[in-house]
Amino acid sequence: MNCRILAAFVFLLNGCAQSSADVAEFAHEWGQTRRGQRPAVQRKPCLLISSMRLSEISSRIAAANPAVFEGPLEISKFCIGVNGQLSGADARSNPETLTVEFSAQMLERATTDDQLAAVLSHELAHVALQHQGFGEIPPRAGTDALFLEIQAESKIIQSRIVELAKSKAEPEKIFALNAEFSVLLGKMNRRIDEIYGEENAHLNWIEQEADEAGAEFFVRAGFEKNAFVDILWATGKGEGEDRNACSLLVEAARTVGTAERRPLRGNKNHPTTCWRVFHLIVDEWIKAHSGQVN
Ligand SMILES: [Zn+2]
Repeated sequence: MNCRILAAFVFLLNGCAQSSADVAEFAHEWGQTRRGQRPAVQRKPCLLISSMRLSEISSRIAAANPAVFEGPLEISKFCIGVNGQLSGADARSNPETLTVEFSAQMLERATTDDQLAAVLSHELAHVALQHQGFGEIPPRAGTDALFLEIQAESKIIQSRIVELAKSKAEPEKIFALNAEFSVLLGKMNRRIDEIYGEENAHLNWIEQEADEAGAEFFVRAGFEKNAFVDILWATGKGEGEDRNACSLLVEAARTVGTAERRPLRGNKNHPTTCWRVFHLIVDEWIKAHSGQVN
C-alpha cells in the first residue's frame, strides 16, 4: 500500500487512550485502534468518484468495529472513493478530512474484495489513529527528555499560530511561525531516528501501527487473512525482495515458535514488504492475538 498521509502537519498531541472493548480484546503494543478525541474535522465536499465495492466493504468493516467507527468517526462521515488523478496502484488517507482515496489502478490490482478490504482497512486505521502531525508518539520517544523538550517547544509555536490565525494577523507572521514549526517537526523526526537507530523511524512506525490496527479491523470483519498478505506483496515496493525467501523466514518462526531471524525493516517510508508480512503473521497473528484471529 503506497499510502501517504496528505494531512498537513498541523495538529499536535492528542495523547492517547480511549478505552473501549476493542482495546481490551486486541491490545497491541500501543493498546489502541483509535486515538483520543479527534480535532475538529475540516469538512469538505467529497469529490471522489464513488465505488459500490468500496462502500460495501467500508460498511462491513465499520459494522464489525462499532467501538471505533461511531460518533465523529461514523463511516457515513467519511469520504471514500476513487481519485482519477492518482496514478499507479495507490491509496491514501487524510485523517483531517476523513478522506480515503484510491487510484483506479489500485481497484484493479486488488482482485478480490478481501484484498481491497485489506488496503481500505489500513487506510481507515491511519484515520482512526489520527496519523497527522505528532498525534501519535512512538513509545520510546514518549519518555525521551530531548524529544519531549522539542515537542514542548513545538506546542508553544503551535498555540501561537492558532492565536495569530484567530486574531487575523498578517499572513507573513503566520508563515514565519509555520516555518519554525516545520523545523521543529524535522528535529522531532530526527530525534526519533536517533532513539530507534533507524532512518525514517517515525514514518515506519506509523505504517506499522496502521497495519496492526487495520488488520484488526479486517480480521474482525471476517475477511481472509491471506488476502492481506497477498495484496501487500502485490503492491509493495519490494524491489529485490523475494517472497519465497520471506515465506521461509515466516515458516521458520512458525515451527520453532520463536522469531530468531527477522527480515530487515529497511529505511524507506514504509517498512519492507517482508518485514510487514512477517510482523503481521508472526508478531500479530501467531503471537499477540492468536486467540482472536485463529
Ligand atoms: Zn499507510
